[in-house]
Amino acid sequence: MKGSMPMSTPSHQPTARMPVLFVGHGNPMNAIEDNAWSRGFRALASAVPRPRAILSISAHWYVAGTYTTANDRPETLHDFGGFPEALYRVRYPAPGDVALARRVVGLVGERRAAPSLEWGLDHGTWSVLVHLRPEADVPVVQLSLDGRLPPAEHLAIGRALAPLRDEGVLVMASGNVVHNLRHAFSAWYRGDTATPEWARAFDAAVADAVSRHDTATLAGLLESDDGREAHPTPDHYLPLLYAVGASGPEDRVRFPIVGFDMASLSMRSVILG
Ligand code: ZN
Repeated sequence: MKGSMPMSTPSHQPTARMPVLFVGHGNPMNAIEDNAWSRGFRALASAVPRPRAILSISAHWYVAGTYTTANDRPETLHDFGGFPEALYRVRYPAPGDVALARRVVGLVGERRAAPSLEWGLDHGTWSVLVHLRPEADVPVVQLSLDGRLPPAEHLAIGRALAPLRDEGVLVMASGNVVHNLRHAFSAWYRGDTATPEWARAFDAAVADAVSRHDTATLAGLLESDDGREAHPTPDHYLPLLYAVGASGPEDRVRFPIVGFDMASLSMRSVILG
């Protein structure tokens, strides 16, 4: 229209700081089912800018060491058993990013981290990314969780990753805020959908601490009674510490997905920044 101002629509904003994501991935079937959770993962795509690359910290690469996937073409790992054949046919063919794998090792420190060819993309990563980036057109690198480290050290590694946010990299942590599979499966078999008080209380305590960027509380929560019930093992909690570590008190905190699957499995997801 004559006289209208030209629109300012840059196709990319390389200097914009990326937000950090924590996604509650839950049941691997969310990868192929159309449900509230998978629709939530899809909606996350419009809530974060298109990244240059994704660094995924998945609960399912829980080993004795801090490693990055340095494969050019990371394999889609079907790291679970007893699911329908259709789930084993899923491939997530995103390229790797060897330079990013090395950059992350540099940030964490070569004395404590190393590139690895022993892993690929596990379902903590691809069950979310098939919805968040269905085109698989953004390179993906995974970072392992060193199961020997205390929570404060996981927070510190997260802090070391913060510069990636200014380099167009989306730091995406994938776990669950409440993850007691023994409880979740027994409730599911019983047809019980009532969320127990310990799950609700732990989920709320985490949300409160994340909202206040209270890293000391987050580092200690697993030691509480609710924490021991919510996480018989720490693997699904620890990714959250990377997301919080890579963010600061200045970052806006949003919970785009909340609620429980299988009675006690918290699907809470967080956008920081
Ligand atoms: Zn999982």
